Amino acid sequence: MSHARFRALELMSVRQPISVNLPSGKVSDYYGQHVFSQDAMQRFLSKDAYRAVMDAINHGGMIDRKMAGQIALGMKEWASGKGATHYTHWFQPLTGLTAEKHDSFFELNDGRAIELFSGNALVQQEPDASSFPSGGIRNTFEARGYTAWDPSSPAFIMERAGGKTLCIPTVFVSYTGETLDYKAPLLKALHALDKAAVDVCQYFDKDVTKVMATLGIEQEYFLVDAALLQSRPDLAITGRTLFGHSPAKGQQLEDHYFGSIPERVLGFMLDLETEAYKLGIPLKTRHNEVAPSQFECAPIFEDINLAVDHNCLLMDVMDKIARRHGFHILLHEKPYAGINGSGKHNNWSLGTNTGKNLLSPGSTPKSNLMFLTFFINTIRAVFEHADLLRASIASASNDHRLGANEAPPAIMSIFLGGQLSKVLDDLEKSVSEKKMTPDEKTELKLNIGKIPEILLDNTDRNRTSPFAFTGNKFEFRAVGSSANCSNAMTVLNTIVASQLAAFKKEVDGLIEKGTKKDEAILKVLRRYIVESKNIRFEGNGYSDEWVKEAKRRGLSNVTTTPPALDAYISKKSLKLFEEVGIFSHREAEARHEIMLETYIKKIQIEARVIGDLAINHILPAAVKYQTILAENITALKSAGMKADTYSMQLEQLKEISGYIASIKSNVDAMVEARKRANKLENVRDKAIAYCDKVKAYFDPIRDDVDHLEMLIDDALWPMAKYRELVTIR
Ligand code: ADP
Ligand code: MG
Repeated sequence: MSHARFRALELMSVRQPISVNLPSGKVSDYYGQHVFSQDAMQRFLSKDAYRAVMDAINHGGMIDRKMAGQIALGMKEWASGKGATHYTHWFQPLTGLTAEKHDSFFELNDGRAIELFSGNALVQQEPDASSFPSGGIRNTFEARGYTAWDPSSPAFIMERAGGKTLCIPTVFVSYTGETLDYKAPLLKALHALDKAAVDVCQYFDKDVTKVMATLGIEQEYFLVDAALLQSRPDLAITGRTLFGHSPAKGQQLEDHYFGSIPERVLGFMLDLETEAYKLGIPLKTRHNEVAPSQFECAPIFEDINLAVDHNCLLMDVMDKIARRHGFHILLHEKPYAGINGSGKHNNWSLGTNTGKNLLSPGSTPKSNLMFLTFFINTIRAVFEHADLLRASIASASNDHRLGANEAPPAIMSIFLGGQLSKVLDDLEKSVSEKKMTPDEKTELKLNIGKIPEILLDNTDRNRTSPFAFTGNKFEFRAVGSSANCSNAMTVLNTIVASQLAAFKKEVDGLIEKGTKKDEAILKVLRRYIVESKNIRFEGNGYSDEWVKEAKRRGLSNVTTTPPALDAYISKKSLKLFEEVGIFSHREAEARHEIMLETYIKKIQIEARVIGDLAINHILPAAVKYQTILAENITALKSAGMKADTYSMQLEQLKEISGYIASIKSNVDAMVEARKRANKLENVRDKAIAYCDKVKAYFDPIRDDVDHLEMLIDDALWPMAKYRELVTIR
């Protein structure tokens, strides 16, 4: 395999940037050209059909079969006009990847070829569900599942290898109605949030009839030369390096962040942006990230359902385009030990049909009270369900990142910034428990009116907080770079929906008892401020003091996935999911099981790759070098040289032998631990065993291998080294 490494290095040294032909100098000329957009719909659909789709998008209206037939016809016309020959229901099963099964428009009619796309084919399909994770739902109940059209996310054309396919975003559910994907629960959560938020908005503004949760996703990623991957099966198979000594020059000079973008990478970015624009993904920023060979892109925010679909699509497109440029994309949270990992910051807010951002302070006391209402309710929701929020971002790969002094810890906390912390502290003091005097009320209103409209102060930003307020939105920074954001967003929107509904009930209760509306609102908000104080933290989230302080406050700090996932099926969460209408108990339990199974599989695969690489790649290289050393010693001895001329070789020989023996015995013990874990029946027990017993061998084995890397002749070392992997030529 050392051949593969050196061949790759040669290839890399002559790589040239691939220049990209932009379709036009103006993005607006081709933006959304592969999307069945409102504009395309107006051109290809009858008035009635167009209205039916818009009604489904805006009000969740049903589309009947006859209408679906008309829509399918228009969609096919549009897609064939663009060169699409096939169509697919595009969905997000719990594997974490997107899924598609293509069918041709082509049909035979009495032996004659025609193109056809029926309303039925648009609305519903039956992919073979049995190979997708379902957490036991299928075994006990109904074996089949179906995909159903989600009209709120527009159809698009995917272009690959010269072929074009019409993709129809769909949800994936079992025949008995249980959700088997990421999208269906997200849509339910967004619907619940819309309703709860509109109800609360009525206190302030009767014109609000719809509230959309918005999301802007910052995507971090690494690029690595595709040729080098041939010599790194660990990176190719698991997405991260399981071995590798840290390079002499890592990120310590801090010269990569916002540095000039290497030309080969810029070619990739231009190509990616062009494809993304055609697909209606509104990419806005691109830059180098902190670690060498790490980058980031971020789109303009959109409605959450669309933002998540676009991010899934983007990850897929990134992977394909990277290949075109001789790269491989690493979306894993921690491809390299000792070097920063990647996250996916979820910028979240709430927007109304009247064009107001509910998390943006206004210019009047009234609009500021509305802002404070949503702001404080969000804080209270996060406080109340911090464990569930933590569970929503748990995965084997994100475990490497959380709390690793480069990403937020596994402790959930909220950063508000100095100004707003003070506003909340003042509110707490000035709202009295008793009935307030008119003077007190006037004073309070005056103070609320003083909240500045623009809070975007860049000096007051805390990058160590998992959940930070950034002026007009919250930034959930703990989400992993490879994750489907639906998990986190379903939970966030569910807890806020539930919180807003509870708030409404309390305020209405006080109003019924004769308290004036504003005073009732303020009283309830004040109580929330007091109750949820422990979740607020303005200091350094990466510090050890915070870990201690959080413990003192009684905040959870669950650092690994299997126990973190417990929060999905706690009594409190099951009740929440059921009340808001997201998951039945059975669905939540099934999901919990799937996540544990995924965890087990990920660790199992890593353990196998570690065993294989250590025994079949590393040890042979070490043995070869041992022989060279031994032969050298023999030769020196027989030439009559004194012992001090080969004492260094002897020393090295001993050291290498020590590491070889240690690696072999740890790999054997790891295999035994795996066998014991595999025997466990209960999936949680098994996941815990993989986490505590099997994974425990990863670091010791790695440590020995990394020492060998420092001892053995570079020419014999089979795997590309860190310095080679993170350098982009
Ligand atoms: P930074 O790196 O400073 O956190 P970026 O500019 O990279 O910021 O990303 C900020 C993200 O937040 C963008 O995707 C942006 O569109 C998004 N955003 C801005 N306003 C809102 C909002 N009201 N709701 C959701 N996302 C928003
Ligand atoms: Mg950010």
